[in-house]
Amino acid sequence: MLKDSLLLYYLNFLISIGPRVPGTEAHKELRKFIYENFKKLSYKAEIDSFYKDGTKFYNLIFKKGKNNYILLGTHYDTKPGIEGANDSGSGVILLLYLANLLKDFKENFIFVFFDGEDFGENAPLFGSKHFAENNKYKIKYGIIFDMIGDKNLDIYMEGYSYKYARNLTEKLFNHAEKRKCEFMFKKIKYHLIDDHLPLLKKGIKVCLLIDFDYPYWHTEEDTWDKISIESIKKVGEFFIDFLENKIP
Ligand SMILES: [Zn+2]
Repeated sequence: MLKDSLLLYYLNFLISIGPRVPGTEAHKELRKFIYENFKKLSYKAEIDSFYKDGTKFYNLIFKKGKNNYILLGTHYDTKPGIEGANDSGSGVILLLYLANLLKDFKENFIFVFFDGEDFGENAPLFGSKHFAENNKYKIKYGIIFDMIGDKNLDIYMEGYSYKYARNLTEKLFNHAEKRKCEFMFKKIKYHLIDDHLPLLKKGIKVCLLIDFDYPYWHTEEDTWDKISIESIKKVGEFFIDFLENKIP
């Protein structure tokens, strides 16, 4: 399948199932979809489920190779009451896409789809907390993607990534600068509560790539018409270019 038709295929699936709130049929359908797509690409799957306040959550983990992993993560749940096209349907599409492009690379990858990031008022981060507390993998470094599908893409350095994974964060943004990448800015704009934090607190070096200049964040307006496949593709291609040119 051509790259663009792959992206459209993932996008159309997400549109067809609606919001992916934990405990709903759509959430289950997306789990199944992600699982089947990674199995097709010969990744090893691990489903890490746990209960929190009476709801069952599932972190979906897919690996290539043994240990010394580069982690690529996003959350796949949506906040109750919103469509969650950018937050984080965009991240799900990107990880599915990258799974295709990276399967023959020499590096080892671990893809993690965190659950329950948005299941509550203030980003409870259930999945990433559970993952970080029980982590048994050796992770070289990682990137957490969230809200990278905005048509008008602006990704700034994130404060906690810079504070706790400075080397990696600088390398990513220096690379962007070198490549004259027009959607990445080597300047801290926000400090954010997101899935990178529980991992950083456990010493796992991860950088959050997020476009937080998105006026529809956590509103009913976070719908698919705001999303651009081109933006998602650009972020994926940036990561691959980074990987091929400069490995931390
Ligand atoms: Zn959110």
